[in-house]
Amino acid sequence: MTDRTRVRRKPERASYERAELDAILDEARWCHLGLVRDGQPVVLPTIHGRLGDVVYLHGSPAAGFVRHAGEPVCVSVTLVDALVLARAVRNHSMNYRSALLLGHAALVTDDAEKLAALEAVTEHVTPGRWSESRPPTDVELRGTAVLALPIGEFSVKRRSGPPGDDGEGDFPAWAGIVPVTTVLGTPEPAAFSPPGCPPPSWAPPS
Ligand SMILES: Cc1cc2nc3c(=O)[nH]c(=O)nc-3n(C[C@H](O)[C@H](O)[C@H](O)COP(=O)(O)OP(=O)(O)OC[C@H]3O[C@@H](n4cnc5c(N)ncnc54)[C@H](O)[C@@H]3O)c2cc1C
Repeated sequence: MTDRTRVRRKPERASYERAELDAILDEARWCHLGLVRDGQPVVLPTIHGRLGDVVYLHGSPAAGFVRHAGEPVCVSVTLVDALVLARAVRNHSMNYRSALLLGHAALVTDDAEKLAALEAVTEHVTPGRWSESRPPTDVELRGTAVLALPIGEFSVKRRSGPPGDDGEGDFPAWAGIVPVTTVLGTPEPAAFSPPGCPPPSWAPPS
């Protein structure tokens, strides 16, 4: 933990454990990348993959964020577990697990690292597809930029459990949590999907 990553509000919800960070990074299928462009903060949704102590992001070499390689960035990941409904409006909340990483993302120039990073991103979002799909060609590889953010400064914050209640007496409002889940739907094959090639085993069968 550094002073920059110290959670100030509700510090009991904070964690600086790598295992908790890794679990959030590995469960979330996308993140948000924050950077400052011409003095203006911008926050871009993007997908990521983790290999050990490095978070990888990828995009077109023409993508705006690639031009910021080497500059300070912030990666934020959020998993929402429930809506928290309290009897008082002010006690409404969310149950969540979130993580924030600060650092400098460098452009990956080594082809072997680039391929490993692209595999990590692909496998993270769609397990098994790296070996099931046609591998990238040299031209495709050159046409893809990869950024590497070493895991250094980070924080985790999480909330779980029921809503707070400030002694609302018999105020007649329901209180509790409404779980939030992200589910995958039934796969829908493209017209050119060859017959006999099964959909991913981790997607619900039709
Ligand atoms: C889904 C969701 C909804 C939220 N809604 C609200 C809301 O409506 N209003 C509100 O005030 N807060 C909300 N929060 C909490 C919010 O993210 C901050 O934690 C909060 O504003 C207090 O930050 P702070 O002043 O302690 O830290 P700041 O001074 O703002 O930040 C200091 C450091 O603390 C760490 N940090 C702060 N928050 C988080 C976090 N969530 N996850 C990981 N690291 C963190 C970072 O490293 C940051 O650099 C929400 C969080 C989530 C995940």
